[in-house]
Amino acid sequence: MAEIRPQPGIMDIAPYQGGDSRVAGVEDVVKLSSNENPYGPSDKAREAFARTVHRLHRYPPTDHAALRAAIGRVHGLDPARVICGAGSDEIIAFLCQAYAGPGDEVIHTEHGFSMYRISALAAGATPVQVPESDRVVDVDAILAACNFRTRLVFIANPANPTGTMIGLDAVTRLADKLPRQAILVLDGAYAEYVEGYDGGADLVDARENVVMTRTFSKLYGLGGLRVGWGYGPQAIIDVLNRVRGPFNLSHAQLETAEAALLDRDYAEKCRADNARLRSWLASALAEAGVPSDSSSANFILARFASADEAEACDAFLRAEGLIVRRVAGYNLPACLRITIGDEASCRRVAHAVRAFKGRGR
Ligand SMILES: *Cc1c(COP(=O)(O)O)cnc(C)c1O
Repeated sequence: MAEIRPQPGIMDIAPYQGGDSRVAGVEDVVKLSSNENPYGPSDKAREAFARTVHRLHRYPPTDHAALRAAIGRVHGLDPARVICGAGSDEIIAFLCQAYAGPGDEVIHTEHGFSMYRISALAAGATPVQVPESDRVVDVDAILAACNFRTRLVFIANPANPTGTMIGLDAVTRLADKLPRQAILVLDGAYAEYVEGYDGGADLVDARENVVMTRTFSKLYGLGGLRVGWGYGPQAIIDVLNRVRGPFNLSHAQLETAEAALLDRDYAEKCRADNARLRSWLASALAEAGVPSDSSSANFILARFASADEAEACDAFLRAEGLIVRRVAGYNLPACLRITIGDEASCRRVAHAVRAFKGRGR
């Protein structure tokens, strides 16, 4: 059936690799490979989820009005310019579907999140990879790669898997200098971990060419539920709503996310706890001879002397029941990305890395 073929670009997509959650023959495994909140969601979110069981036969609302209003209140944003999706992955897909196609270019950076490339290819567009500068997004390199074909520029701030951030001045300069037909997408999946940071919302308000994406999958502990959102200029949000399926979010997704968002005490507790354990773990690993860049997210990117050493440490950690993330696919073969777990998990990681580094001495 040689005549039955997918659209151009589709066969260039390498399937997304999720974080492992099992090690053969090892019990008491800790999964630190997907940047999940180790405590899960707020009890209020769990209760809201349970209540939705009574409405499984009813279609959910199509306008997401209650969740958008709650996002507007908590973040000080205009709810009319919020769009909700099945994870922020779906917002990224809407952006590519609506704004990029064959012949168009979508820019992502050297160590950027893999969904940008996947969604660009799925839309038939051409992903363009731009270098970073020592694991930090490089605005000048992005601007140098822009041309009349550039339609979207994706950066995560803080970035995954590096954990690094660029400042508002750099982001503003990037937005200012983009070609007129291009949209800057600020992926704020980890924005909640940065105290006092709005994810770039003020920049969105001030401009016509910036969109911010956010998620309930990280700080709110709802990766399994699949809820994210975007905030942008009204004209762009109206376009995205045309490609959005009318029932893309269930009652359970909408109401659980809203309850999670409104439990501000729990969110703040998780943010503070992550910051404390992140700095503890980074110091412990540095003392063991494993440095990392200063992280603004809920993981650290541990750097080893070589790809071989990173691989050997990964195997050692696995045998100890600690599953972290290899990031060779993100052009970081000598690094391991380690999610900040609870205190006991952080201690286990520090202990195991120390033992690994001490072998053969
Ligand atoms: C985890 C993550 C997301 C969130 O994806 P969801 O689809 O909302 O679960 C988005 N961007 C980056 C960079 C991430 O690491």
